[in-house]
This record gives sequence, C-alpha cells and structure tokens, in this order.
Amino acid sequence: MLTNDRLDAWDRAHFLHPSTHFAQFARGEAPNRIVTGGEGVYITDREGNRLLDAFAGLYCVNVGYGRTEIADAIARQAHELAYYHAYVGHGTEASITLAKMIVDRAPAGMCRVYFGLSGSDANETNIKLVWYYNNVRNKPEKKKIVSRWRGYHGSGLMTGSLTGLDLFHRKFDLPLAQVIHTEAPYYFRRADPAMSEEEFSAHCAQKLEELILAEGPDTVAAFIGEPALGTGGLVPPPAGYWAAIQEVLAKYDVLLIADEVVTGFGRLGSMFGSDHYGIRPDIITSAKGLTSAYAPLSASIVSEKVWKVLEEGTDSFGAFGHGWTYSAHPIGAAAGVANLKLLDELGLVENAASTGAYLKQKMAEAIGDHPHVGDVRGEGLLMAVELVADRETRTLFEPAQGVGAKVNAALLKRGVISRAMPQGDILGFAPPLCLTRAEADEIAGAMAGAVAEVLD
Ligand code: PMP
Repeated sequence: MLTNDRLDAWDRAHFLHPSTHFAQFARGEAPNRIVTGGEGVYITDREGNRLLDAFAGLYCVNVGYGRTEIADAIARQAHELAYYHAYVGHGTEASITLAKMIVDRAPAGMCRVYFGLSGSDANETNIKLVWYYNNVRNKPEKKKIVSRWRGYHGSGLMTGSLTGLDLFHRKFDLPLAQVIHTEAPYYFRRADPAMSEEEFSAHCAQKLEELILAEGPDTVAAFIGEPALGTGGLVPPPAGYWAAIQEVLAKYDVLLIADEVVTGFGRLGSMFGSDHYGIRPDIITSAKGLTSAYAPLSASIVSEKVWKVLEEGTDSFGAFGHGWTYSAHPIGAAAGVANLKLLDELGLVENAASTGAYLKQKMAEAIGDHPHVGDVRGEGLLMAVELVADRETRTLFEPAQGVGAKVNAALLKRGVISRAMPQGDILGFAPPLCLTRAEADEIAGAMAGAVAEVLD
C-alpha cells in the first residue's frame, strides 16, 4: 500500500480537483482527505477518522454507504455485460426496467426517460429537447430559458449559465446569451420584511411575468427551477410560490423543467419534489438519488405533452441527433434498479419525512435561539442553518470573516460533515435518507458545540 506521504504528494502534484482553490491546494494550505470506506451514514478516511456524513457526499448517497445489494447488482451486470450502447433501439434488461420503474414513480403525465450520466448532462439534454420542441412547432424564435438567481443546474456551458451563482460564471464568460435570470424565491432574504410568504410568492411571479414581457413571450421557451433551492442556499419555497409561477408559465406557453437532481427520489420526504409542492412539470431532471451515486446515471423524464412533439419531429426531420456513448450505461442502470428497490423496501422516503422533521426540531432546540442563527429551515432531509451578524436585521457577516467555513470546520472537529454552501454563511445538511434519530441527535449536538465555539 502507498504511504500517506506519497499519496499526498501525488495528489497535490497531479490531481486537478473540481471546485477547489488550486493554488492553496497545490501549496498544501488547504487540506485533502483520502476517503477509504463507508457504512450507513459514516465514512472513514486514511487517517482513521470515522465521520458522520451529514451531506451524503454531495447530497447523493441517499440509501447510505456500503449497501451490498447495489454492489452485487453492479458486479452481476459487469460480469454479464459491462457495456452496450443504447443508440438506434439498443438496450438492456436493466435500462428498460429502470425506465419503467422511473415512470411508475414519477408524477402523473410523465412517459419517457432519456438516460445520461450526470445532472449537468441531463440539463444539457433538457435544453436541447426544449429547443427541438419549439423548432418542430415552428417557433424558431422561442428559445430563451429563464432560471433563478441562486439556482444550481450544473457547471457545463449551458448548465453553468443556468446556474445563478456568481462563482460559477466568474472568469468563464458565462452566462450565455440565451439564459435570463429572475428573482430567487428566498423569503428569508426578501427586501420588504413586511411581506407575507404569499405576498412574496406573488411578487416573484410578477417579476417573472415582467421579465417574460420585457423579453417578448415569443422568445421565451422554458423556466427551470429546483422545487426547493439547493446549492444556492437550501431554501424551501414560500407558500403559494409554485402555483403562482405555473400560472404565469401557462399564460405565455413557457415549458417548466423541474430540476429534481437533489429532490428526486425521496429527499424532501416525497418521491419527487414536484409531488411535494404540486408542480406539474413538462420535463424532470434527475440524477444523484437515482442510483444513490453507486454509479453515475441521470434521467431526463419527459411528459406526454413534450413527447408527442418530439415523436412528430422525427417523423418530419429524421432521427433525433443526440446521445452519449454512455447513455443508459448497463452498470448505472443495474445500480438504479437495485437502489430504487432498496428505497421502497426500507421505507426511506417516509424516513426522510419523519427523521427530517425530527432533525429540524432538534436543530432548532440546539441553536435556534442563538443570536447569530438567523434561520433554521428545511423540508425532509434537506436542511440549512443560516448564520447572520444581526438576527433582527438579518445582516450578513463580512464574507472575509469566513464564518460559515469556520463553523463547518468546528463541526468536522466534532466528527460531523456538513457543507458550507458557496454563497452566504449557510451550513447545509442533507444526510443519507436512512438517518436514525440517534444520528440526528449527534448532528444537532455537534452543531450546538460548533456554533458555541465559533460565535460565543
Ligand atoms: N442540478 C442540481 C439541482 C444539482 O444540485 C446539481 C449538482 N449538485 C446538478 C444539477 C448538476 O449535477 P452534476 O454535478 O451531476 O452534473
């Protein structure tokens, strides 16, 4: 086995890590962690630490680590047939079965599944589906996509453009011209503190309508949004938000893409976030929870309404010229089938609802009254704690103080991994959906200690 020193040297010299401060990492100023194992909600590293992963990797290991059922399904598939493509009508039992399982679980009106590998590529596919849809309908000008500030939809060229976070645009010449952003449904950060949730939702819908009218409804093709904002701050929508937004979209013939990469397959305590909030999407993006990240796989789930036009399009224009070598990869599909079975058998969607409510309550008891805790929010097992300099005025800390990162580090010292979200002092909690109440207590207890250490 390689020594830790040698691995560390190779890591710093050769591994170009995603979403990392390159210079600090290369100079050894930022830590690395070499992860060696996982069981349930815990991971272990080469230093021998056992850590409670309260962010499930990147909120994706939904059934928890070390599930032999999925590992066995992957091994069986690899022995039998590790790969075949899905072009021109090819498939495997695993990919066909998984498509059926997804449609059975998806909200009403969904009928077809396109498989990719990541949330980003699924959203790239979805934008192409939308453009194709409007070309077939002879509306070639109707191409702009509305996204929200603080939305996260990936980090490709188009999907990085859809993402409404400065960090993902800065120095990349993004966003691309076809993408326009509208107000985030971030009630805690509303400009007018007197507004009720319903009034704020109506305000967001009005902003959307003004944007569509300013751009010209004939140029606006689709709206993309996460049912509850994820990477931009882990923010459940204010009451009435989705009903108000959908009314505007219907009025101007604008499609709705629900980006359920995080919320799909149980995280909010419902199978899909769309079910949870009464969203009727035209296309759903899913990835992460589809395989619990045991293998890379994404799904673009398409409604009857969109499908009919796509089908008609190929009759008029020939085969649909879009596909990846690894679309519907058999190993990913086998992992997906085993994962969705496990999700049902273990009742993990229900557990996300009940243990999620418990975690939120314990967190509120542990730190909710602290003068620097502005907001404890969440739905199911998607939770955030937002730290503020002043609770009354909701004033932010100076970013240079790095308060969120410090609390995150203090939590890690106590054996709990959370995520310091990229914008604002927001700690994110999205543990595996198999979290128990005792583990929830461990997270809340560690958070009480970490907040006290950094902010008292
Ligand atoms: N959409 C959402 C809502 C996401 O949270 C993410 C990833 N965090 C993506 C898309 C992109 O997925 P990936 O990182 O697999 O490309």
